[in-house]
Amino acid sequence: MGVEVDRDRRGIVLEFLGATQTVTGSRFLLSTPRARILVDCGLYQGEKELRERNWKVPPVDVASIDSILLTHAHIDHSGYLPRVARSGFRGPVFATRRTVDLCKIVLPDSGYLQEEEARYASAAGYSKHTPPLPLYTREDAVECLKQFRSVGFDDRVEVADGIWAVFRQAGHILGSASITLEVEGAPRAAVTFSGDLGRPSHPFLRAPARPADAHNIVIESTYGDEEHSEVDPEQQLGDAIRRVVDRAGVAVIPAFAVDRTEVILFHLKRLVEAGKIPSLPIYADSPMALASLEIYRSAIREGDSQIRPELRDDPDVLRPDNLSEARTVEASKAIREVRGPAMIISASGMATGGRVLHHLAQRLPDPRNSIIFVGFQPAGTRGRALIDGQREAKLLGRHVPVKSEIVDLSHFSVHADRSELLDWLRAAPNEPDTVYVVHGEARAASALRDAVQDRLGWCAVVPKYRERVLAIPAAAS
Ligand SMILES: [Zn+2]
Repeated sequence: MGVEVDRDRRGIVLEFLGATQTVTGSRFLLSTPRARILVDCGLYQGEKELRERNWKVPPVDVASIDSILLTHAHIDHSGYLPRVARSGFRGPVFATRRTVDLCKIVLPDSGYLQEEEARYASAAGYSKHTPPLPLYTREDAVECLKQFRSVGFDDRVEVADGIWAVFRQAGHILGSASITLEVEGAPRAAVTFSGDLGRPSHPFLRAPARPADAHNIVIESTYGDEEHSEVDPEQQLGDAIRRVVDRAGVAVIPAFAVDRTEVILFHLKRLVEAGKIPSLPIYADSPMALASLEIYRSAIREGDSQIRPELRDDPDVLRPDNLSEARTVEASKAIREVRGPAMIISASGMATGGRVLHHLAQRLPDPRNSIIFVGFQPAGTRGRALIDGQREAKLLGRHVPVKSEIVDLSHFSVHADRSELLDWLRAAPNEPDTVYVVHGEARAASALRDAVQDRLGWCAVVPKYRERVLAIPAAAS
C-alpha cells in the first residue's frame, strides 16, 4: 500500500514525515541508494487535523522500509508501529533493551485504547466511521513485537544494508536514546537524532550523553521557547497537595504511564519522608503504569547504567507508603468510593484516553478536588483545554462542569528547556552543517531555531511536513 516516493538514486535523503511544528507523530525517513530506514514511528495526537494523518495512507510504501529504529517507548514515537506492521512492514525494529520492555506494555495498551475508543464511539454514536474502527487492535500490537531487536547503548549496529546506528543515552525516560546514523563510504555520520532529551536534573536518570559528530542534528524543541522555572517542582507538587488536603479533596494526576508516574511516586515518597505532606492514600490506577513501574524498579535493582549511581540498589525508592496498585477493573472501580484526602495517579497523561477519563468525569465537578497536570499538554488535548480555563469538559460522550482546581505543573517535565537544549548542542564535537528543529509546536520550534542561529551561529531550520533534504552533501559521500 502507499504512494511510492521516488527514491533518490544518488543522494542520501532525509525526509520529515512527522513531528514538524508539532510534538507528536515523530517519523523520519533516511533513504540511501541501498536502503531505507525510519527513525521513530510515532502516533499523531492532539488536533483533529493531525490525528487524521494516522488514518491516511502513509506517504511511503511501508513494505519498502528495511528497518525501523525507535528512540524511546512513548507512543508519539512508537505508537504508529502496529499500523505500519499491519500495512506490510516486515523488517526489524531496533531499540534499546528497556525500550523493548516498555513497548511490550505500551503498544498493546495503545491498541486496547484504540479499540476502547471505537467501542465508546459506537455506543455513544459520536464517530464518523460507521461502525467505528480502531486504528489498530491490541492483537496487531502484540504481533508487531515479534519484529523487535534489542541493541545496547553505545554499540555500533548495522541496521540496514550499509547503514550503522549508535544509540546513546538521552535521559528522558528509561531506555531513551539519541540515535546517530552512519552511511557506508561517508567519512562523517549523516544524522544525529536527539530523540526526546531529558533534563540533567531528572531525579533518578543520568543526564543525556553528548551528541555524536554528524552532518545534521535533528533536535526536539518541546520547550524550545521556555526556560523551566527555578521553582523546585517537588515543592510545587507539595504545595498543590497540601491545598487539596486542606479541602479534604481528591487530587487526580493524569500521568504518562511511563516515567511520569515513577517521577511522581519518587517525589511523593520524599515529600512524605521530609514531613512536607501527610502520608495520604495514593492510588496508582493504570495497568500500564504499574507494569512500567516494575520495569523501573528492576532497572534500579539491577543497577542499570541509566540510573543515577547513588540510587542504584535501593528497591524502595519508587515505593511510597500507602500506595495502592489498582491492577483490576474492580480495583479501579472501587476508587470511585474513595473520599478525600487522597490522590489518584492515572493515565493517560494528556487526558485523551484511559482510566483517568472516568476519574475526571467523577472528580471535576467538585471544587474540593484538584486536577494536577505534570507534563506538557499539546494544543487540542483535553489537558490543554482544562489548563486554559475550559468551564465544562466533554468526557466519555457527556459534558461535565469543571469546578475543581486545575494545577499546571508542566515544568515537572522530562524534557530539556531551551538552555538545556542549547547546552546539549554545544557539546557536539563539531558544528553540524544543519540543525533541524522538530518535535515542538510552531512557536517553540521557531524560538529554538532562532536561538541556535543567534547564540551558536549555526545553520538551523524548522523543516516542513514531508520536506526532503540531502543528508550528506554529494561531494562528501
Ligand atoms: Zn517522550
